[in-house]
Order: sequence, then C-alpha cells, then structure tokens
Amino acid sequence: MKAIPNVDFSPQIPDLPEIASSILIVDDDQRVRATYRQLLAAEGRSIEECSTGNEACHRLERRDVDVLILDLKLPDIHGLEIMAWMVDKHIPTAVIVFSADESIHSAIRALRHGAFEFVRKHGDPEELIDAADRVLRRRRIEREHALMTVRLKHSERLHRFLVEQSPDIVYTLDTNGCFIFVNGRVHALLGYTREELLGQHYSVIVHPDDLEHARFAFNERRIGDRASTNVEIRLQTKTHGVRHFESRAIVTILSAQGLYGTLEGATRKHFTGTSGVARDITERKKAEETIAFQAFHDLLTGLPNRVLFKDRLGIALTQAQRKGQRLGVMFIDIDRFKLVNDTYGHHEGDELLKSFAGRARACLRSGDTLARQGGDEFTVLLPDLSTGDDAALIAVKMLAELKRPFRVAGADFLATVSIGISLYPENGETPEDLLRNADIAMYQIKGEGKNGYRQYTPEMHSGHSLRITLENDLRVALEKGDQFELYYQPQVSASQGTTVGMEALIRWHHPKNGLMAPGNFIPLAEETGMIVGLSDWVLDKALSQLADWRSKGFTSLQLAINLSPKDFERDDLPERLTRHLDAHAIPADAVDIEITESLLMKDAEKNIALVKQLRSSGLRVSIDDFGTRYSSLNYLRRFPVTSIKIDQSFVRDLNPHHHNSAAIIHAISSIAYSFGLRILAEGVETEAQRHLLSELACDDMQGFLFSRPLPAAEFEEFLNASAFPSPDRPRVS
Ligand code: C2E
Ligand code: CA
Ligand code: CA
Repeated sequence: MKAIPNVDFSPQIPDLPEIASSILIVDDDQRVRATYRQLLAAEGRSIEECSTGNEACHRLERRDVDVLILDLKLPDIHGLEIMAWMVDKHIPTAVIVFSADESIHSAIRALRHGAFEFVRKHGDPEELIDAADRVLRRRRIEREHALMTVRLKHSERLHRFLVEQSPDIVYTLDTNGCFIFVNGRVHALLGYTREELLGQHYSVIVHPDDLEHARFAFNERRIGDRASTNVEIRLQTKTHGVRHFESRAIVTILSAQGLYGTLEGATRKHFTGTSGVARDITERKKAEETIAFQAFHDLLTGLPNRVLFKDRLGIALTQAQRKGQRLGVMFIDIDRFKLVNDTYGHHEGDELLKSFAGRARACLRSGDTLARQGGDEFTVLLPDLSTGDDAALIAVKMLAELKRPFRVAGADFLATVSIGISLYPENGETPEDLLRNADIAMYQIKGEGKNGYRQYTPEMHSGHSLRITLENDLRVALEKGDQFELYYQPQVSASQGTTVGMEALIRWHHPKNGLMAPGNFIPLAEETGMIVGLSDWVLDKALSQLADWRSKGFTSLQLAINLSPKDFERDDLPERLTRHLDAHAIPADAVDIEITESLLMKDAEKNIALVKQLRSSGLRVSIDDFGTRYSSLNYLRRFPVTSIKIDQSFVRDLNPHHHNSAAIIHAISSIAYSFGLRILAEGVETEAQRHLLSELACDDMQGFLFSRPLPAAEFEEFLNASAFPSPDRPRVS
C-alpha cells in the first residue's frame, strides 16, 4: 500500500453561518449613543457602546466588530488616530465616521483614513441607518466571498489530490494534441517527468505501431457516452540516450473526452482540448496472454500443443488446397522413452524431452510447426513442400541430429526416434487422416526395429486396423478364457539330469490366426492394461495344473510363472498371489515368480519392498533375461531374489572360440554364487552349450535341448518318460 501523503483535503467546508452583525458605537455623549442604538436596533444585530477612544480600541482588538460608528472628536484619542491604528493592526472592521464637523474637508480626511461612510452628526437620522445597512450588506458579501474562496480551494485541493494519487495517467491536451496537464503518475509509468511532457505532442508516448489507433482516442472531441472509452493502446517509456530499443512498452486502456468552454459573448461552446485517463493494464494483459499461451502450448517444452497444432494444420491444409501445394505431417516418438523415465525418474525424462524438442526444432524451417502431442510424442507440420522427398530429408536430418548423445543423469545417452510421415494430398485430405496416417507410419517403423522413418502407405493401414482388431479379440478371449493354453517347459538340474521344475508359457489359440506366441500379444496386453487379467488367468490355470501334478506325486516340482512389470505397479499383488495359492492349496515355496530386470530399476524402493514381501511369504523370485538390460550386478545386493536366469543371448554366443560370453556368464555366476543365488541358463540348444554351462557352474538349464514348451498332457509324459524325468515319478520296478 502506498502511504497517502499528508494533504489536508478534508471536505468539511463551513457553510455560511447566519452570524449576528455587531455594531460598536463610540461617542462620549451618552444621549447620542442611546439615540443611535435606538435608530440602528434590528433583528440579528448586536449593538455595543464605548465612551472613549481607549475603550473602543480595547474592544476592537477582539476583531469581531463588523461596523464601527465612530465620533471623530473623543476626549482621549482623535477618531482619525483610531482609524490609523486600525489600519496598522489590520483590524477588519468597517468604519462609519460621524462628526459634528460637517465640512467636506473632514469628510475627505475620514474617507482617506479608510472610512466607508461619512455621516453628519446632526443630519437626517435616515442617513445613518442607510449607511449602516450599506456597510453591513457589503460586509456580508465580503464574508460570503471569503467563504466561497475557501470552499473552492478545498475542492480544488481535493481534486488535485485525487488526480495526483490516481493509479492512472490523467492528462489534458490542448486543441493541437499537446499536453497542458498530466499527473505525476507518468513518471512512475513512463519515466517522463511532468515538466518534460508539458507542451509535447501526445505521440511521443505512444508506441509507433499504435499511433494510427491512438489518433482517434487522443483527438477525441466527443463527450459523454459517445466519447472514446476503453481503447487499448500501448504507451512507450522514455528512451534513454540514442539506443531506441531500450524503450519498453506498457499496455494501457484509454478513455478520453472533449473539453468545451464558453467564450465571452459567444452562444455556442467551443472545443478547448481533450482530457483523458490511461490505465496501465500490462500485468492483466500478461496474465491473459499467459493463460492463452497455456491453453495452446505445452508448458514443459514451450511448444504448441495438440490443439494449436490441429488448428495450424487445418489452416495450412486450406491454403495447400487453394494453392495446389503439397504438405507434410510427421509423427515422432522417442524410442524407449519410458525406460528413461522409469530408470532415471521424471525429472531426467523431462530434461530429455526439452533437449530433444530443441534439437528437433533446429532441423526445421521457420514456417514449420513442431508440437508436442503429449508424453514422448511430437508432431511436425511441414507446409509447402516442393516434393514428397522433402519431408524424408527433414526426417533424415533429425535422425542424424540425434547421433550426438544427450546428457541424462550426468551421463551420455543416445536417443533414437521413430518418425512416421504422411503427405497431402497423397496420404490424406483432412487433418485427422493425415495425423492418423503419420501415426500409423510411425508404428510401422517402431515395429520394424525403431530408429528410422517411414512414409505412410495404404498397406500400413491394414496393419494398424489389425492391431485394433487384435485388441478387441484379446478382450473377448480374456472374457471367455478358453482360447488360452499354458505350455510348460522343463527346467533341468545340471548335475542330476532330472526335471526339477517348469516354466509356464502362455499360448493363444486365436479363432482366426491360429496359435499365437506370447510375443505377439503380451505387449498389447501390457499397453492396454489387460495383462493383469491375463496374469490372473495364468496364475489360476498354472496353479490348478500344479495341484493336479502334485496330487499325482510330483511334489518337488518348481513352477515358474512370468509376471509383468504392470502387475508390480499394483499394490494388491501380494494378496492376489496369496489368494491364488490358497485357492489351490499350493505351498508358496513351490512357485517361482519371474520378473524382468527393468523392474529393478523402475521405482526401485517400492519394488524392493514388494519383492521382500513376496519372499517373506515363502515365494521364490527369479530375475528373467538377466544381463540384457542393465547388467548391473549391484542390484542383486538389494533385491532378495532366489535365482537369476541368464539370458538366451549369452548362451547362444557361447562357443569355445567366443570367450566374451563365457567370461560374462562366469562373472555373473560367481557373483550370484557369493550371494547364494541359484543360476539357471535359458535357451540351451546344444550339448556343447550344456557342457560349457556346467563348467561355468550353472545349477539348472532350460532350452530346446531338453524340450520345447509342451502342452500339459505332453509335459506330464515328459516327466514320466523322458531322458530327463522328474525324480518324483513313480519308479517302475
Ligand atoms: P521368456 O520368459 O524368456 O520365456 C522363454 C522363451 O524362450 C519362450 O518363448 C520359450 O519358448 C523360448 N525358448 C525356450 N527354450 C529355447 C531355446 O532353446 N531356444 C530358443 N530360441 N528359444 C527358447 P515364448 O514362449 O514365445 O515366450 C516369449 C516370452 O513371452 C517369454 O519370454 C515371456 O517373457 C513372455 N511370456 C510367456 N508367457 C507369459 C505369461 O504367461 N505371462 C507373461 N507376463 N509373459 C509371458
Ligand atoms: Ca520367463
Ligand atoms: Ca527369459
């Protein structure tokens, strides 16, 4: 709050009071005084008497006597001397002199000494009465005038105060548009002192771009309702020195009206200038702009958002249609972005998005629009392409630009993107079609191994709609439950050559596509959230099968079940597992939950706690595909898992000439050994691999060498009658 300066603008101005007129009669003759008193007596008058000059002076000093009726000849002081004394003392009393000396000479003297009237002592009594009336009337007018002046001063001061304290610029221009008044606010707002502006044309403070607009408001001649109100005009601050660009602009809202005065003698009022008020609305404007910006931009990257993009695409399309031009739309998705978010946290993810946006922008022309659709998805509008290859060129440029690593969490990170392109008119005529087809093309390149670009072709569309169909089919399958089947793949003890457990692997008997491998529908189930229902189906089915085998005597079998990271995102996982175990009366330690390495990175604290909880309920937990993602053995320290499954890729590369893989497996197994973890090698296909793995101290093995995943009935046969039977099988004697 601004302190209000100490200005007296109290509006309590006294009204003209009906105060009594006071008359003082000075004469040494008591009879004369009595007569005069009688003559002058009237309502509203107080009459006093004095017989000497001294007495009179004493009384006059109180300065409340309106009229003094003064005899010039007094016993002590001469009347003229009293009058001189009164002038000296600034005593504001009007004097009527009366004298027995009726010569014109003494009358003139008296008047020169300041008397208002001269009355002959022995003249007509009416003379005195009239003189007193005249003087009193005049006194009254004088007093009224004085009071009016005071009132005016008050009101003017009040107005001045209001104008000066106003948060707005208040000004008056003459007929030429030059300032004749401006309040002190201009200094705070524009940096000009009032004196600098007086006499200057208003255009010095108007932003050059608004001059035309300002002319109407600043030259306003109309008054009242027709005058300019709320015209938005930018005013510019005083420039310092010659460097013009230092000038800042403020946004004001201006109201003005014409000023009119009457010339003496003229009947019509004539224009004397313009007066107005300019209110600074810069802050409000900024707030409005911010809100508008936020509605159409992505706050993280500052790029246009999908709404603005759609709008611009619409406009560009209309233009391209009219001019017969070609136009391009790109859909860009950062590959494996989710991994960055999951691994390093949202902050690093956000930084990557920002840096990416910066680099992508740099590959574009000034008329192109880069927008963020949300998440790690970006779109580009390429208006006016001369050939269809131009879009591809820009995509190539972007991919090349990404060869330089980003900094993520203080380390170099190579990001790749998948870019889908659609062109007008070849690939679509509406914004929706172009965006959708660019999106489909983007999915295509994702499916082909990411890190590249594709232009839309109609064949892709069928692939895309296939995916949507598949999604619906999966939903139906999940409801029915009878299209899925679990296959079981044995896990064989390296030292004993017996089957110690099996991994449950899901298959989908698709009504049209036939038998589908999980790789073709698990990712879709994960994306759509259907995986949780699927996991429930698998748990129920696998545990019920295990219960069956256990009832047939296979009590030492370990059942491995794959769970998705999505299952771990839900807090009810431990309860769900317990519920399934209880439903089939399976002891927890007969079940091995397979989790992926990525789970160790993502939301690590929460997942460590979850894994601990699962372990404490007796369940076993394995890390699947170990070594593919982060190869960080460090995590093993923090996760209380039971075993690790060495990924197939290491096993595949395992041969006597390739030492790298063996070295890695050796490192993994020795560390695992020191943590007391069981080691299982996956994807064992050859005797050579089996041999090497045994040397590398793997406990168990799984792979085509022993058996492919088998339907339940065939697996049961395998347990009984294969080269790698279960130790629980009934012995044939
Ligand atoms: P995974 O957990 O790594 O399963 C092992 C995969 O390797 C299986 O593929 C299996 O058939 C294959 N395999 C086994 N031995 C060999 C071998 O010697 N050589 C080769 N080349 N491959 C071998 P499958 O059954 O197609 O499963 C693929 C993936 O699908 C699984 O990988 C797993 O991640 C996922 N999956 C399978 N069933 C389920 C399930 O019920 N739930 C979840 N969430 N995921 C599942
Ligand atoms: Ca697995
Ligand atoms: Ca695996």
